[in-house]
Amino acid sequence: MNLAILGATGSIGSSTLDVVARHRDRYQVFALSAQNSAEALLALCRVHRPRYAVLAGLRPDAKLAADFRSHGTELLFGAEALEQVATDSRCDVAMAAIVGAAGLASTLAAARAGKRVLLANKEALVMAGPLLMRAAREGAATIVPVDSEHNAVFQCLSDAKAVRRIVLTASGGPFRAAPLESLDAVTPAQACAHPTWVMGRKISVDSATMMNKGLEVIEARWLFDLPAAAIEVVIHPQSIVHSLVEYVDGSLIAQLSNPDMRVPIAYALGYPERIASGAQPLDLTAMKQLTFERPDERRFPCLRLAYRALERGGTAPALLNAANEVAVDAFLAGRLPFTSIARVIADTLEAVPAAEASDLGAVMAADREARRAAAACVLAVAA
Ligand code: NAD
Ligand code: MG
Repeated sequence: MNLAILGATGSIGSSTLDVVARHRDRYQVFALSAQNSAEALLALCRVHRPRYAVLAGLRPDAKLAADFRSHGTELLFGAEALEQVATDSRCDVAMAAIVGAAGLASTLAAARAGKRVLLANKEALVMAGPLLMRAAREGAATIVPVDSEHNAVFQCLSDAKAVRRIVLTASGGPFRAAPLESLDAVTPAQACAHPTWVMGRKISVDSATMMNKGLEVIEARWLFDLPAAAIEVVIHPQSIVHSLVEYVDGSLIAQLSNPDMRVPIAYALGYPERIASGAQPLDLTAMKQLTFERPDERRFPCLRLAYRALERGGTAPALLNAANEVAVDAFLAGRLPFTSIARVIADTLEAVPAAEASDLGAVMAADREARRAAAACVLAVAA
């Protein structure tokens, strides 16, 4: 199988390459992409020898292209090249592992082209859930979720008609038990120090605010075609139970493993077969306890904002996503206090009315408008 990894230099990208390297007989790396880290991408190309590499954030550069060519890889430049490699007739599988709205166009293109789409880029579904699911149906694409919770639900689904609800687990992040009044002063380094997972910076901050779980509720709504009322969130600090499905007979089915993204990635790569992931097996008797608690809405206001955007529908989730990306960037750059992330998102949703999300143009227009409004909110909070 020929595989394109969009976002190859990131956390999901490197875990994917780790699994692929264990199964050279099954998977050939067809294309690898990064935003602009040419050095890191070249290092991956030396090992994995893809036909194409893409630097999505750079203009054409002859010297760079020659460096890649000397390793047998053709280097492409610009965001359009992501769609080119993901839809190439020789590519079978696209791992959508770009972070944020930047991953939407290539994910949508891969779905439309009927590829198997391994979906880590949850923001694509948050922004354009109905459009992406329709593109997959019309293109006869298979979307296999990589996000650990959705991958767990996918694994636990035996009779979709008989599902009563799904339960998404959340670790609660690094500030689950911190005094509420201490949250104003937390630093990006503290927010990115996740207790159970090692991830990219944006999703780490999302986990600390629990916006990550809010985005995942929206993601689940479209992936599994369930109403918001049938999607519940519980905090499970050990990150061993990755999510659960409850059926009409009262059975709850869960998927358990050590918190290692290679498990859902290997499942998505091998589906419907199972392949080795390299993850440590779970030692049940070494586990002291598995606990579950309800999220505290005062500590995690972003969760409610996400449910509200989902209820509002149309472009509201795209507005929520864009405002969150702007607020998280500002927090990571030291321009916004941690506790103001939710404020910026709420103010943006107040300032920009949601519209119909009839096509990609409408979604991208909402994204742009929300980014402008959110940037103004960040300045207002900082003033
Ligand atoms: P990361 O920051 O580690 O990597 C992001 C990748 O995307 C990099 O290769 C980067 O070069 C590329 N990229 C960034 N901006 C880009 C742009 N504008 N254009 C093109 N490429 C760009 O992120 P990550 O933690 O690997 O997360 C990737 C996606 O997977 C996110 O949507 C995240 O929510 C999701 N996800 C991650 C994890 C995890 O454990 N890391 C778990 C579940 C879901
Ligand atoms: Mg997740």
